[in-house]
Amino acid sequence: MIPHPDWPHQQLDIGHLRATGVAAVPFRSVVLKVHSRCNLSCDYCYVYEMADQGWQRQPFTMSRDVVAAAVRRIAEHARVHDLDSMQVVLHGGEPLLAGASFIEDLAQRVRRALPARTRAEFTMQTNATRLDRPLLEMLARNDIRVGVSVDGGQEANDRHRRYPSGQGSYESVARACELLGSADFRQIFGGLLCTVSLENDPVATYQALAALGPPQIDFLLPHGTWTAPPPYRAPDASTPYADWLLRAFRCWTQDPKPRPSVRMFDAIIAMLFGESTHAATVGLAPSAVVVIDTDGAIKQVDALYAAYDGAADTGLSVLTDDLDAALDHPTTVATQMGLLALSDQCQACRVRDVCGGGYYPHRYRAGEGFRNPSVYCPDLLALIMAIRDHVAAEVRRLVPSPPGGTTA
Ligand code: SF4
Repeated sequence: MIPHPDWPHQQLDIGHLRATGVAAVPFRSVVLKVHSRCNLSCDYCYVYEMADQGWQRQPFTMSRDVVAAAVRRIAEHARVHDLDSMQVVLHGGEPLLAGASFIEDLAQRVRRALPARTRAEFTMQTNATRLDRPLLEMLARNDIRVGVSVDGGQEANDRHRRYPSGQGSYESVARACELLGSADFRQIFGGLLCTVSLENDPVATYQALAALGPPQIDFLLPHGTWTAPPPYRAPDASTPYADWLLRAFRCWTQDPKPRPSVRMFDAIIAMLFGESTHAATVGLAPSAVVVIDTDGAIKQVDALYAAYDGAADTGLSVLTDDLDAALDHPTTVATQMGLLALSDQCQACRVRDVCGGGYYPHRYRAGEGFRNPSVYCPDLLALIMAIRDHVAAEVRRLVPSPPGGTTA
């Protein structure tokens, strides 16, 4: 029996929420765990190194029956909700271990199954160590955008992202990024995903990532909770992660354009101007992501592996259930109800609408569940306030106050 916490699992009255206007938001992004193992052995990996060890029970690759059921469920969900687009994220483990023909066949089957009005947007998140020209040609042929996980330059990346032998992965990743950034494949270069490590210099990290030529950089805070805090995140008012990110932010803002988009910074700036974004880690936008695991299980996002064993489980499977069945799961509802899901402290917070309580998995505390501020609360507050001050100064610089008055 999975030890789900009271909030949201027992305490949410989903029937009442639905009756009072909290509508289910259809899934727009389906993460397919096409292969459950990885050829790297990164020491911070949330799949293999955290509380949930369910990966050990997973088959290596999706079976033919699981693929057929997943394709059918994705198409059915798009049809039932009349979706104009559906993002399919090929994920793992390391998805390239599933093989080129498996990936090509899967992409083609999903495209054939989707209704005519639904545009399929394929992305793959890979460690890129196996990415070569023939694989990139297959991905380009099937219009599959590629996101690469890399933590900076050689020293920064190889601090954590290593092969089981202990050898660093940077050289093969940099080679793949060079190919990906070439004229032949640039159109499928999605961006870089960098897990923040305080041991790495933020300016050197940003510059090394930008030098790889990505259209976007995504900084990911290491997963952790109040019960199992991230490295160096003491339960006090210190702001080590904001300090790190703000040094990268200043370097980014001084980088001449064209420069890569930095997802977290762009999302915060957009929300400061009142725009809505779909960043999962900040803001109040409802989550519209669901995961299909290698054995066909319908799950919540992987980052919940940081909370407790089984935290991502819904008890549903594409072999027996449609994706709609997951819309009324307590975790789905909790991540779609915006403000109503926030703790009292977050509700009263001055950056509430931009922060949104941070990433849902980071709010967990054993015995209480997920109705808490983020374990990164001091960092998020400091980061958002500093970016707000920077934006305000830029606005003042561009729109100077008239003599003797203000622009307000
Ligand atoms: S800064 Fe802290 S209190 Fe404010 S919304 Fe974010 S997590 Fe909640």
